[in-house]
Amino acid sequence: MTQRVTVVGSANADLVVAVDRRPSGGETLMGGELSIIPGGKGANQAVAAGLAGAVTSFVGCVGNDGNGEILRASLTRAGVSTRSLHATQSPTGTAIIFLTPDGENSIVVSPGANHDLTRALAERECATWREAAAVVLSLEIPLETVRFVIADAAEHGTRVIVNAAPATSLGRDVLEHCDPLIVNEHEALEVLGATGDDPDASDYPALATRLLAAGARSVIVTLGAEGALIATGAGCEAMPAFSVRATDTTGAGDAFVGAVAAELSRGADLSEAVRFAQAMSALSVQRLGAQTSYENEQAVRAFLAENA
Ligand code: ADP
Repeated sequence: MTQRVTVVGSANADLVVAVDRRPSGGETLMGGELSIIPGGKGANQAVAAGLAGAVTSFVGCVGNDGNGEILRASLTRAGVSTRSLHATQSPTGTAIIFLTPDGENSIVVSPGANHDLTRALAERECATWREAAAVVLSLEIPLETVRFVIADAAEHGTRVIVNAAPATSLGRDVLEHCDPLIVNEHEALEVLGATGDDPDASDYPALATRLLAAGARSVIVTLGAEGALIATGAGCEAMPAFSVRATDTTGAGDAFVGAVAAELSRGADLSEAVRFAQAMSALSVQRLGAQTSYENEQAVRAFLAENA
């Protein structure tokens, strides 16, 4: 088996400004200094998988602009191949983030070049996932592209890992290939087409079991500082998170997904992969940013050894 991971997904420049409060309609507020940091779920997951030690390729689109270069540089620094990172005529996707003292950040995403990752473009990159041990998908790119990659990868025997974020209801045709489907507690409900009124809304083993019944081959529900839940045909296993002081949880979920993919591509089982991913994300929540907060495999293994 090859030990390669291919991530097909979004890349965004995160434009972050600290403000005292959210502006109201018609109001102009003065904010702090602008930070431009590399983000987007797909790029974050690829950087995490690369740093976690997997030979990683990223399939995505950025614009022909400075933000695109920031993303390309961050992927390259993490050892990720950018041969399938396309520069299109659209601006690089951006997330405009107001950081407020209440911690309830307000975010507006402009997808930009991520919309250019069409099925036709993805078809040209099929060798990247057909040759990989695992392919990782999230949902900030056109759903038609996601569906195509999942079906093609499954047909060619590549393990399919789907992070259903931002969440949408998914049918059996997609779920039956997910091994695992990775969702947080809110996404679990939305993938099932359920709402917060659902009787199982806070019964995570029940939600995970329903996702299995809906077709997923295996399910991981992430629960922030509470850890994660693994569900397979053999049952449910709760995995507590590492106890650390979190300063910024941005991108923790993406660190988790990339690290799971890296470990599974090396032949680890789901429990081993989740343990490794929890260490990677526990390290990331102690540092600022998403990609900028990720550490490498050696640091993750050292953390695991210290916290055994
Ligand atoms: P998402 O951002 O997608 O909602 P989560 O917040 O569930 O993802 O985080 C993913 C994983 O990151 C968790 O399963 C956990 O292992 C780790 N994690 C997140 N927040 C913390 C925290 N405060 N302390 C320790 N680990 C954390």
